[in-house]
Amino acid sequence: MSDEMTHGQRPGAVKSDVILDVQDLKVHFPVYGGFRQREVGAVKAVDGVSFQVHEGETLGLVGESGCGKSTTGLAILRMLPITSGKIVFEGVDITKHDQRQMRPIRRRIQMVYQDPFGSLDPRMTIGDIIGEPLEIQKLHGNKAGRRARVMELLKTVGLRHDMIDRYPHQFSGGQRQRVSIARALAVEPRLLLCDEPVSALDVSIQAQVVNLFQELQEELGISMIFVAHDLAVVRHVSQRIAVMYLGTIVEISTRDELYANPKHPYTQGLMTAIPVPNPVVEAGRSHQTIEGEVPSAQRPPPGCRFHPRCRHAMPICKEQTPELLPQGYGMVACHLFT
Ligand code: SF4
Repeated sequence: MSDEMTHGQRPGAVKSDVILDVQDLKVHFPVYGGFRQREVGAVKAVDGVSFQVHEGETLGLVGESGCGKSTTGLAILRMLPITSGKIVFEGVDITKHDQRQMRPIRRRIQMVYQDPFGSLDPRMTIGDIIGEPLEIQKLHGNKAGRRARVMELLKTVGLRHDMIDRYPHQFSGGQRQRVSIARALAVEPRLLLCDEPVSALDVSIQAQVVNLFQELQEELGISMIFVAHDLAVVRHVSQRIAVMYLGTIVEISTRDELYANPKHPYTQGLMTAIPVPNPVVEAGRSHQTIEGEVPSAQRPPPGCRFHPRCRHAMPICKEQTPELLPQGYGMVACHLFT
């Protein structure tokens, strides 16, 4: 094992099949104000998040806009400064890694972004876009070797070989996202961080791309964090799901348990937003949607952060922050279960 691999390892603390261990992660952005532009507060975008991702597993990270799910992803890649907490990837504590130390890690953790058009250089052919990371990392030998690998990747993501010399504008949104996925897979990462990868696509195309992620996971055994703002999208691709609200995880459970028996009132609210394909069943459902807006992450409500929007709020909810405690197959942070 290299020095890189042994640096920062916690013997016995991480199970062998855990490839990512996020511990009490906090990402706070300072807020400046006044005449002298002094620090007057902080936006607590991520405020004490802990979870693990296992080998070959997809963890869905779900919540409304502003809940901190994308910030969590960027912090794992060390693209944002971490306020406190710990990130252990493949047994290595990468929390304090500088940009040089992160270079080999970034090959192992690849990102798929929300906007496939914005993340692809319009002046490059698809072959060059997918082949670029191979060239940078000096993989698959010469130009012919890299081109052969790009052909293979096009097939993996369901695109034709003859598309290799086309440009991004010649593709549909769904095809462009397939190109982004091929580029991310080129360097054979262990973990894919997918940040709302289907939310910019038409609903009819979303299902195809979600299916592709599912197939890739089954065929390549890759681990994924799949960030989305609604539970319908992550349902088919995730084995476990973490629900985030205002910078914290309020419920984390197996996919089947979460959909069959959502416990946290916020999870229940997200669940009612999922339409049922049967119009008769849909008409008879009660839609107890979540009312109100997400409060400011600069001044989160005291106690349970969800209490101003919760139908079950009790006096204790305004005073004490509920801990994330084991409940059934998962964990829930709610005073209804303490
Ligand atoms: Fe609602 Fe209280 Fe549970 Fe928060 S702790 S979700 S306010 S019941």
